Amino acid sequence: MQARCLRSREVMDEQIALAAKLIKESNRIVAMSGAGISTEAGIPDFRGQSGLWNNPQLLSRMSKRGFQSDPAGFYKASMELLPNLTSAEPTSAHRLLADLEENGKLIAVITQNIDGLHQAAGSKTVYEIHGNGRSGHCTRCSAAFEMAKVDAGIEKGEPLPPLCPDCQWPIKPDVVLFDELLPIGIWQAAERAVQQCELLMVFGSSLVVYPAAELPMIALKNKAKLIIVNLDPTDYDSRATVVIHRGLSAFAEAVTTAL
Ligand code: ZN
Repeated sequence: MQARCLRSREVMDEQIALAAKLIKESNRIVAMSGAGISTEAGIPDFRGQSGLWNNPQLLSRMSKRGFQSDPAGFYKASMELLPNLTSAEPTSAHRLLADLEENGKLIAVITQNIDGLHQAAGSKTVYEIHGNGRSGHCTRCSAAFEMAKVDAGIEKGEPLPPLCPDCQWPIKPDVVLFDELLPIGIWQAAERAVQQCELLMVFGSSLVVYPAAELPMIALKNKAKLIIVNLDPTDYDSRATVVIHRGLSAFAEAVTTAL
């Protein structure tokens, strides 16, 4: 038993050292992040096992159709699913990516998350392919709103759903709902970044939600190397140069020391 622990420790150390070597050698890194990078910041993985996929009623409420038929119910469900979105702080994995960008090594972060933690850590080029929770739009006149102000009104007890003051139609956050298309311009920019990268690092994504899960394929076709850090195995593990099934903060701290 002890020998096996030592062995797996050695394998882990080798993988960390190899990840650090790939990062050092590469000047065009792209990172792709999923829910796993933010669960360590206390944001629940609402698409995970206990989340939406196993609750058809909740899933339909969090769809565009659900929003249109019951916007107040949508707001109630999202407050239950993501209660601490505004108070969460970035983790050492978010900070590692911001540092790599500042040092001229990382060209973009592509994220499936809507929590804004990459920007909070200092990342500049962030492609939020599932949208973001910072801004919202009137569903009739398209006027833009800061969701922090809208949420503050809700907390003070203003009725749900929040309405556009001009036309009294519901305000919808700029998140991509389950039956909505990805924002095409952002998706194309993400694809271009992956086509140019030498190294794609996948952080905390199980690579099951399409089309995001296509991005590692694009990287591999262009001869980029792949690092995957995720608690669970993914379909791309056999094609990655480094695979680490471990928490992202522990990985980021170990790699930062090794760099
Ligand atoms: Zn309006």
